[in-house]
Amino acid sequence: MVTTNEHLLEVRDLVKYFPVSKGLVLQKVTGWIKAVDGVNFSIPKGETLGLVGESGCGKTTTSRLILLLEKATSGSILFQGKEVQTLRGEGLQEYRRSVQVVFQDPYSSLNPRMRVGDIISEPLVVNERLPKSAVRERVAELLEMVGLRADNASLFPHEFSGGQRQRLAIARSLSLHTDLIILDEPVSALDVSIRAQIMNLLMDLQTQLGLSYLLIAHDLGVVTCMSHVIAVMYLGKIVELAPAEKLATDPHHPYTQALFSAALPSHPDEYREEIILTGEVPSPLNPPAGCRFHPRCEKVINLCSEKEPVLKSMGENREIACHLF
Ligand code: SF4
Repeated sequence: MVTTNEHLLEVRDLVKYFPVSKGLVLQKVTGWIKAVDGVNFSIPKGETLGLVGESGCGKTTTSRLILLLEKATSGSILFQGKEVQTLRGEGLQEYRRSVQVVFQDPYSSLNPRMRVGDIISEPLVVNERLPKSAVRERVAELLEMVGLRADNASLFPHEFSGGQRQRLAIARSLSLHTDLIILDEPVSALDVSIRAQIMNLLMDLQTQLGLSYLLIAHDLGVVTCMSHVIAVMYLGKIVELAPAEKLATDPHHPYTQALFSAALPSHPDEYREEIILTGEVPSPLNPPAGCRFHPRCEKVINLCSEKEPVLKSMGENREIACHLF
């Protein structure tokens, strides 16, 4: 696909509520899990948006909505300016080719009974009618692109190390001239020594191929290093969004401050006072009134339990949802 839009992907007011039902036969909806509740962000071509937040904050549901694995309750997902949720036929197939995903555990995403060459070429064979020689050439090119040897095509996944298997998963995700890759914890299953290699590979491929990434990761160091912009989610909402470096070194929202205070500093001389978050993340079935973070926020004021703060622009490409700003 050729990009004409400044933003490759734009998510507007995205909402996903899951029904909670009661009763065995006549199921009655008794409530809604508000997994994603009015999320807005965009990813320009060639850039990475990092999505962070505790488990259950809606990161994975957001990515599943973009991959069209879930149907949104409301909102838009625009890819190159076009709504993707209404795509059908060739348009839908083209979108599916353009957006790929790389998961945390490369072993479970690679069929152990297939040879690497077949795994990598599978999307090509299914989607494009190419002669066998062209498929072999493309597989060799992809293997070399991710730092493996062309003759590795005849091996099976178990003959590779964890890092190499993640390289294979990346090669597979690139086989169809991808524009956007959803990276779902791409390095968290790897040894620390291998992580930097895979991160560098992903960043090199981004520069080389103009790829855009939506990066979901728990490791804030990884997210800060790889992302251009970071969006922080809490209970289905984005609470702060800013350029990665600014957000990591000068977080404004009390939740972002707590999250980053617990991460390892990027320099040994850097001092961070750790803010301990008390209590569990409330249930998205029954989120607190007003600011959803207020039961755990150490800067809470009266207004916080009464009125929900909206995401507002603070200038310098920072947006924040907090009554203190
Ligand atoms: Fe804390 Fe209130 Fe800001 Fe929410 S709106 S983060 S409770 S200060």
